[in-house]
Amino acid sequence: MNILLATSEAVPFAKTGGLADVCGALPLALAELGHHVSVVLPAYRQTRYCGQRIEPLGIDFIIPIGSKMVTGHLLRSTMPGGRVPVYLVEQDQYYDRDELYNVDGKDYVDNCERFVFFSRAVLEAIRLLDLPVDVLHVNDWQTGLVPAYLKIEYHNVPRYENIAALLTVHNLSYQGQFWHWDMLLTGLDWKYFNWHQMEFHGNLNLLKTGMVFSDSINTVSPRYAQEIQSSPLGCGLEGVLQHRHDVLSGILNGIDPQEWNPETDPHLTAHYNAATVDQGKPLCKKALQQELGLPQEPGAPLIGIVGRLIDQKGFDLVAEVMQRWVQTSDVQWAILGTGQPQYHQLLETLAQRFPQRVALRLGFSNPLAHQIEAGADLFLMPSRFEPCGLNQLYSLRYGTVPLVRATGGLADTITGFDAQSPNPAANGFVFYEPSALALGECLRQACDAYRRPEIWKKLIQVGMHQDWSWSRSAREYVALYQKTMERAKKPQPAG
Ligand code: ADP
Repeated sequence: MNILLATSEAVPFAKTGGLADVCGALPLALAELGHHVSVVLPAYRQTRYCGQRIEPLGIDFIIPIGSKMVTGHLLRSTMPGGRVPVYLVEQDQYYDRDELYNVDGKDYVDNCERFVFFSRAVLEAIRLLDLPVDVLHVNDWQTGLVPAYLKIEYHNVPRYENIAALLTVHNLSYQGQFWHWDMLLTGLDWKYFNWHQMEFHGNLNLLKTGMVFSDSINTVSPRYAQEIQSSPLGCGLEGVLQHRHDVLSGILNGIDPQEWNPETDPHLTAHYNAATVDQGKPLCKKALQQELGLPQEPGAPLIGIVGRLIDQKGFDLVAEVMQRWVQTSDVQWAILGTGQPQYHQLLETLAQRFPQRVALRLGFSNPLAHQIEAGADLFLMPSRFEPCGLNQLYSLRYGTVPLVRATGGLADTITGFDAQSPNPAANGFVFYEPSALALGECLRQACDAYRRPEIWKKLIQVGMHQDWSWSRSAREYVALYQKTMERAKKPQPAG
């Protein structure tokens, strides 16, 4: 099968979150299964420092954006390992910037234009590179226009007419909504600007556009695929998703077993596996405490948090619980992330007042993320919603017990321990109500269990023996690609 994956992020070329992890790992797993897969993404400033060799192809192209014509260039690279080709769309006015989508918390004002250009470039690249494509796999709002162009403008063009389109929604709360005049930038007829297709409450909505014109839609966990078909997690698009429920499914993300392997992880002081975790993990904990300036107390439960410090991730609950716990318990907190200023301030205040208990690093650091995964005892993810979540899967592999709220992919991957009715499949702690009270109670249970080695060791072993690698998910994607190709042969739902 020939697959072209279009994305705005992929490790190691560009990353702001889990989308990049998925788009970096899935192509390798598909290639491993014998499929031909290529990746196309913009050439950002950070792409230049990705460590992969990038070469110009000498292919220039011109894209109409509203009334102007904009030139771009194609560059070529490969994913690590050299088996998967990566094509980079170079257009420095759009992509040679400090950040991918926003700066100082504000979206770039021309984001619609930047991704209209990229979406059109994806389709032009197929022709210019003479790429055979059976399935065009697009991701999130940034590539939501690709299926629309495919079904409208390339409808009867020979090399495109048999291409099937799959949209993966990684997070429904980012929809790429722009004012209606940006419809002019797309070059598509105003007749598509209606509430069945591209319009959403008077705005242009690129994610909705992708949902309407794709042959299949999937999201990154079965639970999230259910949750988004109703309010509030449908974020206003629940009606569209209900309408297309017959082509909507969920496939759990996997993890890159090379990148996240405590036996070989180059960022760690000590290496370990399920058999040697009792020896290796305490050394990683000690090193983490030292690195973060926390007291080296081997018996104090060390809680790790890595991620975007935003409402979605439940940081209001964390802050409330921490305020109580830092004064009354020996729990230590290791927090790495960036996000909303109010959480920066709240956590900074706590870290300054209680340096013996709270270590905070505001920023993005891949090595420290790995060290927290290895050094922490518990990993906290009290998300209000979580399409899949990757950190809980990394935690399981690193023998760090996840404590999560039962939502989306967290609910699909973590089975809660219950002291009253022990379940042999338990691999973490789960709470339900999105409240500080429920989180605090769950944390109390987890800390009790931590002090009972026979329970704790069992939880670690169950998690470390589970297989969350991409090879499992990649097989499910192959089956979905096949279904998508069959659907593409049937009359189109729209366009
Ligand atoms: P989301 O995509 O919503 O941000 P995920 O859990 O799916 O959340 O994926 C987040 C990914 O980004 C993980 O690989 C996580 O380790 C990484 N990450 C997030 N914030 C940071 C940070 N500040 N430093 C290093 N890695 C981070």
